[in-house]
Amino acid sequence: MADASLNPYLRAQQSFKEAVEILGLETAVFDLLKQPMRFFEVAVPVVRDDGSLEVFTGYRSQHNDALGPTKGGLRFHPNVDADEVKALSMWMTVKCALLHLPYGGGKGGVRCDVDQLSEAELERLSREYIRAIALVIGPDKDIPAPDVSTNPQIMAWMVDEYSRIRGENTFGLITGKPVAIGGSRGRVEATGRGLVHATRQLALELGIEFAKSTVAVQGFGNVGSVAAQIASDLGARVVAVSDKDGGLYHPQGLNIAHVIEYQKAHRTLTGYPEADAISNSALLELAVDVLLPAALENQLTADNASRVQARIVGEGANGPTTPEADAILFEKGVMVVPDVLGNAGGVTVSYFEWVQNQSRFYWSEAEVSQRLEAYMAEAMSAMHEMHQRFGVTLRKAAYLVAVERVAQAMRVRGWLK
Ligand code: GLU
Repeated sequence: MADASLNPYLRAQQSFKEAVEILGLETAVFDLLKQPMRFFEVAVPVVRDDGSLEVFTGYRSQHNDALGPTKGGLRFHPNVDADEVKALSMWMTVKCALLHLPYGGGKGGVRCDVDQLSEAELERLSREYIRAIALVIGPDKDIPAPDVSTNPQIMAWMVDEYSRIRGENTFGLITGKPVAIGGSRGRVEATGRGLVHATRQLALELGIEFAKSTVAVQGFGNVGSVAAQIASDLGARVVAVSDKDGGLYHPQGLNIAHVIEYQKAHRTLTGYPEADAISNSALLELAVDVLLPAALENQLTADNASRVQARIVGEGANGPTTPEADAILFEKGVMVVPDVLGNAGGVTVSYFEWVQNQSRFYWSEAEVSQRLEAYMAEAMSAMHEMHQRFGVTLRKAAYLVAVERVAQAMRVRGWLK
């Protein structure tokens, strides 16, 4: 029998199955959710700079559109395969339903190594991929966005290609675009900002004052650096941060604005003068109130979870906690804000971007952050309520909230009989 823990698709199916069972829903709900409603595998022919033709494999998975058009990112990575894309689209269904966005889950990608492509080849690949899936996507059908190794420039080429095919500007096709062509203010910072809001809301529900807490952040990319800055702006003491080379520690709190400047200038945190060095693994075990893993997957494992001293772990990265570590942390009473909420700020501001595109009325950054905060807080409360009702981890509670909402939509649409 296949080991479900090794295959993301089987793992996602298991999570949905468990949620359907805990909620006491009919098996038809699971039968409809256990695979994508639609799944496309496409050939993506690209003329290389030397004139030769290379055909890449691309995918788009539309998991479930009961709540609205499907939504989710596109990744360009050598590990992209059918099962990974299907699983990621199922996780998007959970994220969107949990955040109460009027979307179902989608995901796509192309199996390729962007480091082996020139800028011109990357543009041709992006445009060819959109040509391959143009018939099945659209602002009211399926709305892509950036994910691993894709960015606003790639979104711009894609929306341009689709607009040319349609013969009309269709900015609502894709989110995560540059602000110059309908991108939302605050989209780039959205994931880090959402992570802090979700974590602060949980602290509030637990009676921990976030403004007086100590914080350690693993990862200093787009998510970690923004989260560190916002946590510090909110009065928390950020005592440690790290990048892939190692970390910085200062018990009185780091000056995050200075650290960001240093990192911009040196492209690493290493050597920053006003802090002690700390390893990535030691950072995870610091005596802090809040730990934010915002780098890689599988950082908290059966090996180190028992040594985690934080009271709250906020997952900015995808899957930083293994299932074994999850169980250990639950036993210890450490609360984990699961990735499906912790990094849902991105798709939430994507939704805001799409709303702005569809209404042609653009918001200030302050409006975006204020609304993001409200969405994160509401999702956290719904999840926390499920956690208390069923005595399960917040991660399982997130699935319960999402599956209940999707099942309700499927029921009233008449899909369950
Ligand atoms: N790729 C991001 C995610 O996994 C963003 C998706 C989106 O903005 O649609 O949540």
